[in-house]
Amino acid sequence: MIIDGHNDLVARLWRGDEVRHVRLEDAPDADFAGGFFALYVPSPKPPNPTTDHYALPLPGPIPRDEAARIVDELYEVFCSLPVQLATSPGDFRPGRVAAILHLEGAEPLATDLSDLEAWYERGLRSIGLVWSRPNAFAEGVPFRFPSTPDTGPGLTAAGRELVRRCNELGILVDLSHLNEAGFWDVARLSSHPLVATHSNAHSLCASTRNLTDAQLDAVGASGGVVGVNFAVSFVREDGGQVAATPLEEIVRHVGYIADRIGIDHVAFGSDFDGALVPESLGGIAGLPKLVDALRAGGFDHEGVAKVTHRNWLRVLGDTWM
Ligand code: ZN
Repeated sequence: MIIDGHNDLVARLWRGDEVRHVRLEDAPDADFAGGFFALYVPSPKPPNPTTDHYALPLPGPIPRDEAARIVDELYEVFCSLPVQLATSPGDFRPGRVAAILHLEGAEPLATDLSDLEAWYERGLRSIGLVWSRPNAFAEGVPFRFPSTPDTGPGLTAAGRELVRRCNELGILVDLSHLNEAGFWDVARLSSHPLVATHSNAHSLCASTRNLTDAQLDAVGASGGVVGVNFAVSFVREDGGQVAATPLEEIVRHVGYIADRIGIDHVAFGSDFDGALVPESLGGIAGLPKLVDALRAGGFDHEGVAKVTHRNWLRVLGDTWM
């Protein structure tokens, strides 16, 4: 059974684009049991960098009214998917797809959080405070390579309150896309395991979107998990947008994180339908090939089970209560 930390199927369907990776009809053969399905209010798509070194500007903020209008449309798309809403680890079962309702960027929320409980009632169980832009709660990293993730200020007062309320309600707080100052603010504030749903090891690929060794250590010490992102530009040592990237490059990040903070703290966070992933993987139909590559890379039966689903199930159980 495979549980995944991030996909952008909803945004792709909302835009009317062709589904590239999360073709749900492929799920049974691939043993794909679902995972985090993002509601992402889009910024203008950044240009793909044409060199291996790049420093794209930070996209501007999105007005709350506009974000709230668009996210309702995204939520309608989410509700139309032939999936089971996941609000408990037991909702994930072999042979069906369960979806965690995840908000990637808290722009649609009122800064006084007066609508947070209504979102919880809708099934929201995971919030990334930011996508890669500033909002009323925190600031995300711009897309830069090579660069440290220490690119801006930490959480606002509203952001700190959002973390506290998420802790109380049992909503997972996602650290992916957050800058380093914000990461450490959440690490100090949150009583939950720290989770980065779709980020990699900065030591292996020096993108702003990846986690430094100190950040990885904090995730491990908290009992959390890092979902390894399959996006080639966050995987490759040269940060390049190269479709012909071998699956062993993804396995390299899984291995690095497992060696550094333990096999209990690494999982998958594909970024399917939101990024360029290795062409040999394609979408969820190719996941068994990635599992084979893990085995070939020295992961035993138990290690593979932890990376593919057990670690996600444990952290969801600890967070949702
Ligand atoms: Zn993302």
